[in-house]
Amino acid sequence: MIDIQSIRNDFPILEKKIYDKPLIYFDNAATTQKPRSVVERIKNGYYNVNANIHRGVHFLSQAATEAHEEARKTVQRFINASSSNEIIFTRGTTEAINLIASSFTDGFMEEGDEVIISVMEHHSNIVPWQLQAARKGITMKVVPMNERGELCMDTYRELFSDRTRLVSLTHMSNVLGTVNPVKEIIEEAHKKNVPVLLDGAQAVPHMQVNVAELDVDFYVFSGHKIYGPTGIGVLYGKEEWLDKLPPYQGGGEMIATVSFEKTTFNELPFKFEAGTPDYIGSTALAEALKYVNNIGLNPIAAYEHELLKYMTSQLKTFEGMRIFGEAAEKGAVVSFLLRDIHHYDMGMLLDRLGIAVRTGHHCAQPLMKVLGIEGTVRASLSFYNTREEIDRFIEGIERVSKMFE
Ligand code: PLP
Repeated sequence: MIDIQSIRNDFPILEKKIYDKPLIYFDNAATTQKPRSVVERIKNGYYNVNANIHRGVHFLSQAATEAHEEARKTVQRFINASSSNEIIFTRGTTEAINLIASSFTDGFMEEGDEVIISVMEHHSNIVPWQLQAARKGITMKVVPMNERGELCMDTYRELFSDRTRLVSLTHMSNVLGTVNPVKEIIEEAHKKNVPVLLDGAQAVPHMQVNVAELDVDFYVFSGHKIYGPTGIGVLYGKEEWLDKLPPYQGGGEMIATVSFEKTTFNELPFKFEAGTPDYIGSTALAEALKYVNNIGLNPIAAYEHELLKYMTSQLKTFEGMRIFGEAAEKGAVVSFLLRDIHHYDMGMLLDRLGIAVRTGHHCAQPLMKVLGIEGTVRASLSFYNTREEIDRFIEGIERVSKMFE
């Protein structure tokens, strides 16, 4: 059970008034708000445990190193990785995908080799591959979807060829809310000896992710979308793969020895963490994961699912309502358009009522093209949202709707 009032008390920003109206924050897919414990962890880190990590013999440096490495273990346990060597801290999902795109292409792809992505990818799982396409002549194959916003699994199977080197797909769509059948996707790829990268930016805050059970080769997510700070994220990679991949960036921390003639690289996970890591961010992320674990991902998923069902049914009472993405497996994200009301108009007018939603293409322009639209209004939910907030949101849409009649 979710104790909603006690949870809301943990998020001071939720008490804010916007234009003199209580804030309703429905932009959680873009970034989540932070509980007190995460902000306190950042403050405590800078006030009490701040020193550069790993190479210092002095007390503070060792304390900061321990906290950072403990955070790595918290992440490891959170996604059930088998070793903390498999957890690489990055700046976020985007950097993690760029890391794999660059290193994997360098290590394992030749001109004409193929990566399978899907029509519902965020730009951060399209553009890094395009950069590699321009650099090395690799090609992208794109899995289409049906009218409910579910991937066409038959076509997925047919896209494999003897040049397929990697599958790189989103676990949950940030626009449609679709939760993809990742177990099946991975099994299918592994039958052909092709590794799989999953973009977990949207999935990780809403459901229990178990990388060992999924048998996924790479899994990436961002701290700020799971109640942690901005500027920190995670790349999980199977140790056997990370060992084989060439480094991404060069610098301090990722080396074992350096001379002007030759450099040898550090062991995992440091081989992929060039420069001073965000050791305050990592510990605050660990705090966020503990917060989520304390509520429990299963109660979170159940509660958010109820909110999603309620919001969807209320939205459908409007004539001329179009909801984009009605997959059988769907997370707490609703993209919609009402009649011919422009998404910016809807977003701006809701904002005046204190309601924060996102409008536009949501960094998924190819998906917008397939849907034949420029953008949508997107309401994305968290466990701190309530039915009463949905009621106010629906009243807000009614007001906007009347203005455009
Ligand atoms: N992938 C998905 C599915 C997303 O929703 C987002 C952000 O919205 C990203 C990747 C990029 O995340 P970040 O900007 O934190 O790197």
